[in-house]
Amino acid sequence: MTLAPTNTLIIDNAQLIGGEWVPAANGDTIDVINPATREVLARIPRGGAADVDTAVRAAEAAFPAWRDTPPGQRAALLMRWAELVEQHEKELDLLESQEVGRPHWGPLGIPRQLRFIAGQADKVSGLSLPTNVPDAIGLTLREPFGVVGAVIPWNAPGPMFVNETAPAIAAGNTIVIKPAEDAPLTPFALAKLALEAGIPPGVVNVVTGYGPEAGAAIPAHPGIRKMGFTGSPPTGASVMAACAKNLVPLHLELGGKSPQVIFPDADLDTAIPAIVTSITLNTGQICAAGSRVVVDRAVHDEVVSRLADAMAHVTVGPWYQPVRMGPLINAKQHKRVLDYVQSGQDEGAELVLGGGVPDGEVFEQGFFVEPTLFDGVTPEMRIAREEIFGPVLSVIAVDGEEEALAVGNGTDYGLVAAVWTGDIGRAVRMARGLQAGQVTVNAALAGGALVGGPFGGYKHSGFGRTMGADAVLEYTQVKTVLLRGNA
Ligand code: NAD
Repeated sequence: MTLAPTNTLIIDNAQLIGGEWVPAANGDTIDVINPATREVLARIPRGGAADVDTAVRAAEAAFPAWRDTPPGQRAALLMRWAELVEQHEKELDLLESQEVGRPHWGPLGIPRQLRFIAGQADKVSGLSLPTNVPDAIGLTLREPFGVVGAVIPWNAPGPMFVNETAPAIAAGNTIVIKPAEDAPLTPFALAKLALEAGIPPGVVNVVTGYGPEAGAAIPAHPGIRKMGFTGSPPTGASVMAACAKNLVPLHLELGGKSPQVIFPDADLDTAIPAIVTSITLNTGQICAAGSRVVVDRAVHDEVVSRLADAMAHVTVGPWYQPVRMGPLINAKQHKRVLDYVQSGQDEGAELVLGGGVPDGEVFEQGFFVEPTLFDGVTPEMRIAREEIFGPVLSVIAVDGEEEALAVGNGTDYGLVAAVWTGDIGRAVRMARGLQAGQVTVNAALAGGALVGGPFGGYKHSGFGRTMGADAVLEYTQVKTVLLRGNA
């Protein structure tokens, strides 16, 4: 089977600036590879500060007309974008599988995501304010910032691209966005469909390149009025420092070390498969992955044995085979995950399952690792505190609710937390007590059960929210108006 079928959505060596597909100013390129085979899928421009500058100028030029486009018309254009995405959904899913290496999960749900945000475009409203004088009216307006900058990671490039782009433009901003160098092809395809939908040139600009080159140039550019970043905490901190220099507001979607807290009264038939999916989906490269099992000692042995059994049945292979788990994204991530496995063993955790590279010819080229389970993990170990971003699950035993809460909250992160219990009182106490932007009880967050739920972090997992109706408001600033008639 050829692994780079002529996906008509692949765009060769061009980035989108002011409605034109252009190479990098310096002509340099980066190869995008399929992480299962290392086969080159496409070349992309290796953009830098000069490309970002051209893109910001294009976005500035497009801003006044887009800001003044009636909100109902902006909504209609976003709806049309969603329709085109739906028509190309299979190709888009294939493209994302190819560049991320993910076996097919089923549709990514991007049209639904886009429609939800499109529906908010004409519902951005302010307040009417009381006045102390009879001939005046007070009100607030919610206005766009201007040019928004955004940098996104590689793990779910399509949904991430829409998460940043759709709310920003729905609110009347224009955007310059940089996808990750490892997985920019789905974002380009989505941008192409946005243009085809009639979203005017210059409203969505996509620049590609390496983080320290094209990425760092975005928050450093004086034309950027608002910034969004999704990625790792150290890079988030550097983007925040650049924003501080220019006094630009930002939101950060960073990593996680999300606990799965299991009590003795949990329904393990539901919990175990959900936990295994949470840590093996996308090969564990999901910010919301439930990577720590915090389990009451009363059910510890049963939980570990059932987790080991379920994880041993997770099939691994290239995305085009009917398997559940693909490779990691690149050589750096591969080394990082294997180093964490070593650190778990060095610190005294018990390796129950996996920990290595699977055997077989098909695994020789790609960046594969086995689903990995550690027991006997203590909260101070690195594998209990640091985000691995791989299919490595750490089990920590606790005694009772108080310790479960303390361990659950015992990392710098606070993105997602899941609680598994049959006791409603305990569920409420845990939902209130867990320091995370999202808490689920007897359920996983994935799967689209929730409509319009805001998504974001507590603590070092970031701040600001994407996805819900508030996401559009994040891209507006409030103007207070006092309107007084002539005396
Ligand atoms: P990363 O921070 O290395 O890269 C993310 C993006 O930042 C890429 O586009 C990269 O090119 C760019 N970048 C790198 N250096 C930069 C710099 N100096 N200035 C500006 N941009 C720069 O992260 P990653 O390893 O690609 O992604 C994995 C991380 O992303 C994990 O920590 C994961 O938890 C996090 N993530 C969070 C969410 C969320 O919603 N909270 C979602 C997905 C991924």
